[in-house]
Amino acid sequence: MVLSDKVSSFLSRASWIRKMFEEGDRLRKIHGTDKVYDFTLGNPSVEPPQKFREELKRLALNPEPGMHRYMSNAGYPETRSAVAEVLAEQSQLPFEAKHVVMTVGAGGGLNVVLKALLNPGDEVIALSPYFVEYGFYVDNHGGILKVVPTNDAFLPDLTAISAAINAKTRAIIINSPNNPTGVVYPAEVLADLGQLVEEKSREMGRPIFVISDEPYAKIVYDGVQVPSVFKYITNAVMVTSHSKDLALPGERIGYVAVSPRINGVDTLIEGLVFCNRTLGFVNAPALMQRLVAGLQRESVDIAEYREKRDLLYNHLTSLGFEMVKPQGAFYLFPKSPLPDDIEFSRKALRHNILVVPGGGFGTPGYFRLAYCIDLDIIKRSLPAWSALAQELGM
Ligand code: PLP
Repeated sequence: MVLSDKVSSFLSRASWIRKMFEEGDRLRKIHGTDKVYDFTLGNPSVEPPQKFREELKRLALNPEPGMHRYMSNAGYPETRSAVAEVLAEQSQLPFEAKHVVMTVGAGGGLNVVLKALLNPGDEVIALSPYFVEYGFYVDNHGGILKVVPTNDAFLPDLTAISAAINAKTRAIIINSPNNPTGVVYPAEVLADLGQLVEEKSREMGRPIFVISDEPYAKIVYDGVQVPSVFKYITNAVMVTSHSKDLALPGERIGYVAVSPRINGVDTLIEGLVFCNRTLGFVNAPALMQRLVAGLQRESVDIAEYREKRDLLYNHLTSLGFEMVKPQGAFYLFPKSPLPDDIEFSRKALRHNILVVPGGGFGTPGYFRLAYCIDLDIIKRSLPAWSALAQELGM
């Protein structure tokens, strides 16, 4: 055995997203790329904003001595200040550079936070459907993922969360705008969750944290705004990245921000910086930190994503597919027309449509479509969707 038992068992339950992606590759080789409608991967189809290229050129043409060296493990003060300035505006709280730790994407940031918070056996609540990596990240740091389903509107079910909290509960991960549902949590929901967490922290005699995973915060539609989690939740730690809002997933740049209102905030930050270093990240990529400092108020062209959402949502609902209309991110999460979402995904495959079964997000009976793909592919997929719906007698 070359692998640990644990990794070996995780691999044998390989992610549905990967499985379907590989299936897509196989189909592309047989039918050609223009005849395979691959909705499996959340890899942005748009390019970074023009200002990103300008900053990249400026930095390349004016190299500063030492710009590729190690810096403070928390990141460059200028970048952290630029992030803190926006957070202070959004939350009306006294954010400073020290409350921000630059990380290797949101994935790196989540690992840093979980390492800093968890004792072995501590529980972390995730709300299904959820981003499947949470389970692995929690396991990385000796924790146990406890999955609590959301309600029919894919919003947190406060009664169920309350019932799931016990003396071992250390954190609740929320993700709004949500992958895979696209749902944005309104301010009242955050306020209720904040109150619950405060009550339960008192009852359990130690703080429970809300880890707000927000890489899609700027990808919202129809005038919706993502409320600042810091306004409504005292023990809030935000984790985010520029993978989606600046379309830089391969560059691995994000940050963790901690609420200035947390009791013991300075110690928490010290722990986060230590974990950023000792997880082997050392610091977030230097060049990207310099770049994103000037891009905190920028984002990719949201109109492109909205057009794709509308096209697909309107076509699928006209065929009889049922789904919550997403207000953010770039995913649809329709109900599977067959009780078995895996069987449905197989039937879709026969029409060269690749989707991820809802079971891959802890919610069987649904399927996820990532519409961050070329508009042209979405347009060409529409007749295939119609044929699929007809085959299923919808
Ligand atoms: N959290 C959610 C909900 C995501 O969908 C993703 C990526 O798809 C991540 C975290 C990880 O993002 P990053 O590329 O910043 O590590």
